Amino acid sequence: MSNDTIFQLRPGRSCGACTACCIEPTIDSPELKKPPGVRCPSCTGKGCAVYEARPAVCREYHCLWRMTLLDLGEEWRPDRSGVMVVPEERDIPPGFEPFGYRFDLIGPPSVGLWPAALTWDPLVILMATAVELNIPVFLGVPAPPGHTGRKMFMNYAMVAGAKAHNLQQLRDALIAAYQEGVHTPSPEIVFAEAV
Ligand code: SF4
Ligand code: SF4
Repeated sequence: MSNDTIFQLRPGRSCGACTACCIEPTIDSPELKKPPGVRCPSCTGKGCAVYEARPAVCREYHCLWRMTLLDLGEEWRPDRSGVMVVPEERDIPPGFEPFGYRFDLIGPPSVGLWPAALTWDPLVILMATAVELNIPVFLGVPAPPGHTGRKMFMNYAMVAGAKAHNLQQLRDALIAAYQEGVHTPSPEIVFAEAV
């Protein structure tokens, strides 16, 4: 299956009021640079103030909720679910499929608590299903604004719970990974000045 086929936009679906990808990711393109977790200056909170003239990097980017690859229902829209699902091909250990998914929790990190999305059954079940199929899954743990989040590889931690179909065991694995990620210092992103 070609990338053109698997990365088709889902017909009839639009971002609506979601602006998660205008805040959460690092954007480092010639036209726009923005650290992670920091709102783009053009983001109004309801949309893009320069939508018709937005940079190519924004025109070309869509999270997997906008795609046909996974059957993510309306409730998965990132601003509703608290999680942004993106493809992930990097840092996959040997023995797993070469293409996986990263489930980025959105919003600032919370120490001592965890985001509700982390124990949301649809998230837990989708990750467990992927684990059973040997598809790599990562949990994206946010860091303070301006800092890179942590990417936690979850297959080893979730495999026992996935095989046993034990939701509580799976939730516990996710919470433990979140707590580890949120306590791990992360570097601040600094963009070099153009010379
Ligand atoms: S995160 Fe997804 S749904 Fe939200 S604005 Fe970006 S592409 Fe649209
Ligand atoms: S330019 Fe517009 S679409 Fe691009 S990140 Fe900023 S607000 Fe979002």
